[in-house]
Amino acid sequence: MKILLFLLLNLSFLVAKPVASVSIAPQEFFVKKIAGDSVEINTLLPQNSDEHTFEFKTSHLSKLEKSDLYFTMGLEFEKVFLDKFKRNFPNLSIVNTQKNIHFLEFEEEHEHHDHDHAKDIHTWLDPILVKTLATNIATALKEKYPQNAKMYENNLQNFHKELEDLNLQINEELKGVKNRKFIVYHPSWAYFAKRYRLEQIPVEIAGKEPKISDLKRIIKKAREENIKVIFVQPGFPENAAKVLAKECGAKIVMINHLAKDWDKELLKSVEALKKAL
Ligand SMILES: [Zn+2]
Repeated sequence: MKILLFLLLNLSFLVAKPVASVSIAPQEFFVKKIAGDSVEINTLLPQNSDEHTFEFKTSHLSKLEKSDLYFTMGLEFEKVFLDKFKRNFPNLSIVNTQKNIHFLEFEEEHEHHDHDHAKDIHTWLDPILVKTLATNIATALKEKYPQNAKMYENNLQNFHKELEDLNLQINEELKGVKNRKFIVYHPSWAYFAKRYRLEQIPVEIAGKEPKISDLKRIIKKAREENIKVIFVQPGFPENAAKVLAKECGAKIVMINHLAKDWDKELLKSVEALKKAL
C-alpha cells in the first residue's frame, strides 16, 4: 500500500500541470479561455474580498512559488509586492495584463489626489478592452509554452469572436433604454459605461465611505434624474445603498464585478439595467 501511494504521488508529480497565477477571478476566466486545460490557474484574490484593500500574506506564496507566469492587474497589493516577487522568484514571468490599454482616470473631488491612485484599473468590465487583455495573455502563454502556440492562437481568435458577439448583444439589449444613468456603490463600471453610453454615479468616492453631504447630493440627483437602479457588490456595506434606495425609490441589484463567471455576470447587469431603466 505504501509503495502504491509512493508511486501515485510520483506519477501525479510527473503529470502536474504548470501553474499560472492571476490577481482576480475575471482574469481566471480569460486565461482559461486561452490556455484551456494546459495550465492550472491560481487566483490570488479570494471571492468576496475587496480588490483594493486585499492584503497579500505569506500563506499566498506557496502557489505563486510554483507558478511560471503571473498576470498582474495594477492592484494596490501588487504595487507593494511585485518587487519582492521578482527578487524571490527569478523564474516567475510577470506579465502586465493591461499592456496597451489607455486608462481612464477617476474623477476625484478633492485636489490633493495622488496620480498613481487616480488611474481606473477596472478595464475587465468592457468586452472590447478584454480583447486587448486576452491578446496580452495569449502572447505571454505562447512565449512560455511555444509547444502550445497554435492552440493558444486558435483559442484567442475564438475568444475575440465571442467578445465581439457579446459586445453586439449588449448594445442590442440596451438599445431601447432611455434613462442611461445608474448608481453604483464602488465605481468599477466606468469602462463599461463609456462603451455603452451609460453613466455611473458612484456612492463611494476615492475608496471612502460617503459622507452625509455626499449622500444628500446623490439622492437629489437620483430624484431629479429618476435613477432607478443601484449596483452593490457582495461583501460591501449595504447600509448606505439601502438608505439611498429608499430615498430614491430605486432598486438594489447585487452585481459582482469580480465574478468568475465573467460573461454571465456582465449579462446579468445588462438585464438589471434594462429592467430598471
Ligand atoms: Zn475596484
